[in-house]
Amino acid sequence: AKETGGARLQHFAPAQRRELGRRMALEHQLHRAIEREELFLQYQPKIDLQGGTLAGFEALLRWRHPEHGIVSPEEFVPIAEETGLIVPIGDWLVRTAVKQMAAWHAAGLPQIPVAVNLSARQFLQGDVVALVRELLAQEKIAPHLLELELTESLSMADPERSLAIMRELRALGVTLSIDDFGTGYSSFAYLKRLPIDKLKIDKSFVHDMVHSSDARAIVQAIVAMAHRMNLRVVAEGVEVAAQAVALRDTGCDQAQGYYYARPLDALEAGAFLAPGPHA
Ligand code: C2E
Ligand code: CA
Ligand code: CA
Ligand code: CA
Repeated sequence: AKETGGARLQHFAPAQRRELGRRMALEHQLHRAIEREELFLQYQPKIDLQGGTLAGFEALLRWRHPEHGIVSPEEFVPIAEETGLIVPIGDWLVRTAVKQMAAWHAAGLPQIPVAVNLSARQFLQGDVVALVRELLAQEKIAPHLLELELTESLSMADPERSLAIMRELRALGVTLSIDDFGTGYSSFAYLKRLPIDKLKIDKSFVHDMVHSSDARAIVQAIVAMAHRMNLRVVAEGVEVAAQAVALRDTGCDQAQGYYYARPLDALEAGAFLAPGPHA
């Protein structure tokens, strides 16, 4: 029999109990978050490091919770993963991002790549290939403009199946990127087997670059190796000019972070796209 929340909570100390209570409440409320239109996307600019121009956006998921305000994806994406809710949420977010691209295009704004984060469970359980194929055709978006950011742990969970799905996505023409590179059991030998276009260097390395020559050497090596494998390199979490300069020196292709822009609401992102004082 399924225990009630109260019964489950008795076994825990008060602080743990509060935490678990919040978690269970969030889990419950997340079920209705899509239909209540509490989820939305923000778009964070990616900058071409050599030319200084806008190179694309990363779509980031947000939950406007009726009581708690904005809840971090770091808190609710794991809940969505464990409960399987990430599949409908993931469908919603890919759909929303691609429709947003079409809306910007319809408004006469330049077309640039938009990256979406796919979690392991959405990737392996949902029919992401069919979804992407249908959406790109329906919204008339050039496939290479849609980027999918995947983590290495994703392909660890079921290597053969994830490799097959990645190949199908690549065959559709979408751009595949490995997120948070350097934080997992990354190896170039392993990367070589994956049909990917891009690497995203985790912000922890970018953070350390300014103070640590080791971190600079690591980033330099990652960029050189990636380029030799014909991969473009993006650095995330750039917060200060010194990091941008150090990254440009390594030959890194793109950068993203608060130094350039915070994640923006769709309207602000559209303004960012428009030629004019912002550009
Ligand atoms: P991530 O994919 O590595 O996303 C980058 C995170 O770094 C974002 O946090 C972004 O807002 C933040 N960030 C951007 N610039 C800077 C900077 O200069 N400094 C620092 N310290 N942080 C910066 P966010 O939006 O809170 O997302 C956190 C994580 O939640 C993401 O990490 C990703 O793993 C997950 N996530 C976010 N949106 C989605 C989504 O749509 N689907 C899935 N499956 N996961 C998502
Ligand atoms: Ca990402
Ligand atoms: Ca990342
Ligand atoms: Ca991350």
